[in-house]
Amino acid sequence: MTTTVPSTSRTGKVVLVTGASSGIGEATARLLAAAGHRVVLGARRADRVAAVAEEIRADGGTADHRELDVTDLAGVRAFVGAARESYGRVDVLVNNAGVMPLALLEELKVDEWNRMIDVNIRGVLHGIAAVLPVMREQGAGHIVNVASVAGHRVDPTAAVYCATKSAVRALSEGLRQESRDLRVTVVSPGLTRSELTDGISDLGMRAVAEDMMGIAIPAAAIGEAIVYAVNQPAEVDVNEIVVRPTAQS
Ligand code: NDP
Repeated sequence: MTTTVPSTSRTGKVVLVTGASSGIGEATARLLAAAGHRVVLGARRADRVAAVAEEIRADGGTADHRELDVTDLAGVRAFVGAARESYGRVDVLVNNAGVMPLALLEELKVDEWNRMIDVNIRGVLHGIAAVLPVMREQGAGHIVNVASVAGHRVDPTAAVYCATKSAVRALSEGLRQESRDLRVTVVSPGLTRSELTDGISDLGMRAVAEDMMGIAIPAAAIGEAIVYAVNQPAEVDVNEIVVRPTAQS
């Protein structure tokens, strides 16, 4: 955890964002900080989260960063623990980290299936496991899970990805039903500009996906939706937001 020297006294919420080194997570962290929240950015590319946190601080915001692999439960607990030690509480966790190596099932890319399960499902569960005791103790908290339009529909080459995002929606709804003190939000983006297609190993499939991204909306469009949910009063729980390009089918 880096030392934070805020240029102004801030009292915003303490918000942890996973997968904050690029795309939606990065944009969300920047927007949350601009809205006055204290953000902690996590991702495996520590140099990237460090640079984003530094830019946020240079703009007058409050930001820390920490190297984070959401597939490692101990690491996620350490991420949450360090934030709590710095700020005394954790108000919001944005479970955003995700991967999308699209391929036909018949290609049997079992390692990629497992990686999607590990990051997109286990990663979200690890986040929940790490913050739930803290938020229960506080008697308040907010978990924002980034799912996808792919959690609402299934397309060829995306079966496993869609399954993981359906799982995120199911987990979120279950958590919501079990909670009277926590807010639970699912944000489901459509095509959004980010680095997500870089992880598609099938080059033909990657070209198709990049072509589809021609109509993609900026990552900040999703970040704005997350900021909206976070900024609602404590008794208002925004449960699901779908944000897609106007031109997306
Ligand atoms: P990016 O690839 O730009 O961002 C993904 C982020 O996840 C990166 O910061 C990456 O950081 C992080 N990440 C990946 N694996 C891990 C890991 N094991 N531990 C910690 N962090 C990890 O793509 P997006 O911004 O688009 O993706 C963000 C979320 O939005 C994902 O859940 C994605 O499924 C979802 N989404 C995206 C859509 C789109 O069109 N872009 C549409 C619908 C949903 P690092 O590699 O440094 O660890």
